[in-house]
Amino acid sequence: MSKMTKIGALVRCPKCGEESRVVWVSQDGKLEAIKCMRYHSQLSSSTKAIPDFKTKKKSVKGVVFLVEVS
Ligand SMILES: [Zn+2]
Repeated sequence: MSKMTKIGALVRCPKCGEESRVVWVSQDGKLEAIKCMRYHSQLSSSTKAIPDFKTKKKSVKGVVFLVEVS
């Protein structure tokens, strides 16, 4: 196996840099969803939210970021 991120791995939040967790990885390993445990009022433009992921729509805690793995 390569350096593909595993679900449940701890990574840094792409926005705040705090500890967050990988909650989903695409089959080809090029996309991963990172769930940050911190509060975020808005998503940054450089990341894309997953609208129907397993997060409550009104919650700003536990924001999930979809990021490309280079
Ligand atoms: Zn964050």
